[in-house]
Amino acid sequence: MMDSMDIISNLKNQTINYDSVLLKLIQTWQKEETRPKILLHSCCAPCSTYTLEFLTDYADVTIYFANSNIYPESEYKRRAMVQQEFVDTFNREYHKEVAFIEAKYEPNIFIQTMTKKGLANEPEGGARCESCFQMRLDIVAEEAQKRGFDYFGSALTISPKKDAQLINTIGLDIQKLYDVAYLPSDFKKRGGYQRSIELCKEYDVYRQCYCGCVFAAKKQGIDLKTINKEARHYLKEIE
Ligand code: SF4
Ligand code: SF4
Repeated sequence: MMDSMDIISNLKNQTINYDSVLLKLIQTWQKEETRPKILLHSCCAPCSTYTLEFLTDYADVTIYFANSNIYPESEYKRRAMVQQEFVDTFNREYHKEVAFIEAKYEPNIFIQTMTKKGLANEPEGGARCESCFQMRLDIVAEEAQKRGFDYFGSALTISPKKDAQLINTIGLDIQKLYDVAYLPSDFKKRGGYQRSIELCKEYDVYRQCYCGCVFAAKKQGIDLKTINKEARHYLKEIE
C-alpha cells in the first residue's frame, strides 16, 4: 500500500497541506482499484461524523476508541457509547459497514505519565496535548499493525482546536516504528468541519464541553461532579 512519504517528499520546502496529500493518496487507491483498510482513531462521535462520510467512499474504516485521557470514567463510557451509537446509525443510514473497536481504558497510566513528565499544568494546545496525541496514535499504530490494517490515522484533524500539522508530524514519526502506514489528513478542509456540525445536528450527536483530560477540565473550570452525574444518568437511561 502506498506510503504518503512518497507524496510528501516531492513537496520540497512547502507547508504541507495534508488534505491534498490525502487526496493524492486516494487517487493512487483509485488507480490501483483498491479499498485499503484503515484503523481510524476517534475520541468521540462529532469528529467521526464527516470523516466517515468522506473516507468510507474510498476505504473500509474501523473506528478505534483509544482514549485513556478521558476523565472521569463515566464520561469516558458515555463518549464511547455515543461513538458506537453513531457508527450504528451511520451504517444504517449510509448502508456502510464501519466497525468499532474499543481499546483498554487505562486512565491511571495517562495521569501518571503526564504528571511524571511535569505536563499537568500545561495549557491546552501545549506540550501535554502533544504527548497525549503521541500516546494515543502510538496505541492506534500498534493495534493497526497487530490486526493487519493498511493505514492508521485519526479523526482529530477535523477539529479547528487541534493542530493538524503537529498531529500529522507525530503520525508520520510513529509510522517509522511500525509496519503500517500513517494516513495523513486535515479533515476540516473543504468544509469538513462545517459538515461535521451539520451532521451532529442532523443525528443529534452529543458534543462534550471539554476536551477530555482532568487537567484541561480543571483549568477550564468544568464542574466534574455535574459531568459525572449527567454521564451516569445517560448510561442508566440506555441500560
Ligand atoms: S477532538 Fe474533541 S470533538 Fe473531536 S473527537 Fe476529540 S473530544 Fe470529540
Ligand atoms: S487537553 Fe485534550 S489533547 Fe490535551 S492532554 Fe488533555 S485530553 Fe489530551
